[in-house]
Order: sequence, then C-alpha cells, then structure tokens
Amino acid sequence: MSVERLVKRYGQALVLDHVSLSVAEREVVALIGPSGSGKSTLVRCIHQLVPIEGGAVYVHGELQGFERTDGGLRALGHRAIAAQRQRIGMVFQQFNLFPHMSVLRNVMEGPVQVLGESPEQARAYAEQLLDRVGLLAKKNAYPRQLSGGQQQRVAIARALAMRPQAMLFDEPTSALDPELVGEVLAVVRDLAKQGMTMIIVTHEINFAREVADRIVFMEAGRIVEQGPARETLAAPKTERLRTFLSRGE
Ligand code: ADP
Ligand code: MG
Repeated sequence: MSVERLVKRYGQALVLDHVSLSVAEREVVALIGPSGSGKSTLVRCIHQLVPIEGGAVYVHGELQGFERTDGGLRALGHRAIAAQRQRIGMVFQQFNLFPHMSVLRNVMEGPVQVLGESPEQARAYAEQLLDRVGLLAKKNAYPRQLSGGQQQRVAIARALAMRPQAMLFDEPTSALDPELVGEVLAVVRDLAKQGMTMIIVTHEINFAREVADRIVFMEAGRIVEQGPARETLAAPKTERLRTFLSRGE
C-alpha cells in the first residue's frame, strides 16, 4: 500500500503536508512521532475514514476512493469504497467491540453479514482466530467480562476474520494498563512473523525496534526521517528524531 503526496486539512490546518509513503508487501512499518503530528490521520486516510484534499492512496496498486475518467478523477460510490475498505483491517486504541454480542459473534459477524460466509464457515474460522489470539476459551463471554487486553485481542481477531490484505494499528496498546500491553503486542508480533503487511502507530519504541522492518518518524504533518528500524533508532540522522527519542515521548 502507498500514499503519494497526500494532503489532508482540517479547516485551515494542514495536517498532512504532501506525505508519500510506500509499504511493501509483508513489510512492517512502525509510525512514530509526537502527539498531533498526523499519525492517526495518515492511517485514517489510508482506510478511507476521512476524505483527503490532495494526492492519492493505493492498495495493491489500486487507487482508493476514486476512479480515473477521461476528465480526471471521479469519487467512487459508497459500495465501491466499502469494498475497498474491507481489504484492510484496522485496530484502534479503543476496542469498540459490539457489547451485546459474545466474543465469537463479534468475530463472526462481519464475515457472515458482509462477506456472505455461511455461519458454519465463519464460526470455524472465528474459532481458529480466537485460538490464535489465545482466547478460544472465552468465546462465549461478553466484552464487558474481558480485560482491556483481552478485548483488544478479540478486536484483532475480528479484523483478521475479514481476511484483510493489510492491517493498520493506531496505538493499539495505549489505552491498556501496563501489565496488559505485552499480551497484545505478542499477537501483533505473531502477525508480523506470519508476513502480514502492517502499519503500526505506536509509542512502544522497544516493540517497534524488535518487530518493524522500518521506522517512519512524523512531525507536523510530514515524514521527517525514516529507515531500517534498528539503525534508525540507534543512530537517528535528524536532530528532531534524536530529541524525540531522548525525551521518551
Ligand atoms: P497524532 O495521531 O499524530 O497524534 P492526529 O492525526 O490525531 O495526530 O492529529 C493531527 C492534527 O490534526 C492535530 O493537530 C489534531 O488536532 C488535528 N485533527 C485531528 N483530527 C481532527 C478533527 N477531526 N478535526 C479537527 N482537527 C483534527
Ligand atoms: Mg493518534
């Protein structure tokens, strides 16, 4: 997936200033940067949760949100956009599970309602995914009966149930008590090992160093520095990244 010269404004504020970023298949990118630098906005634009003012987003080479016509670009309709969005899974800081559904139903719902899978097929795959995130034993529980870390693992299983080609994580552990962070990161680490293409917005620098192929550092709506994870974190080239890392923001 990639973005080219992406521009996003909120009112007068230029929140993404011609951002270009290309993520290869099976690559894991950790997106870091100070609060307000545009990290969430970037992943939201990729997932078409917010409209863009300029530039382009591509997933598997396919332009997102628009079609090319003789006269230029024309916005796609809701259905076409929904179909494109399904190909990417997104996990947010807040888990947003359906509170009135069991864990199993939460994971089955999208495949049955949206992908048209049979309940049997959806259930079998949901159980497989819940096993993978270590929560098969909780399949009949309701979200309120789970810890935050468990809810976030269900949210990851739910996203995976849609068989996404890539995953976006927006600070998946920052709403969690410290002791619950590790179990969620373990699931993300496992996904990385299995070759899932991912952009992970995170403040967990140690995790980023270990799991990401590449670090992308944003500030004020721009990518200020990027490079291989270990080298970039060990020896930042810009003063700004050096300062950011030394502050432990
Ligand atoms: P980050 O995730 O790096 O903390 P965000 O992408 O959330 O940064 O925000 C980037 C900038 O855009 C900030 O200045 C923020 O205040 C602004 N912003 C984000 N979302 C909105 C919105 N819905 N309306 C207005 N401004 C917003
Ligand atoms: Mg954010």
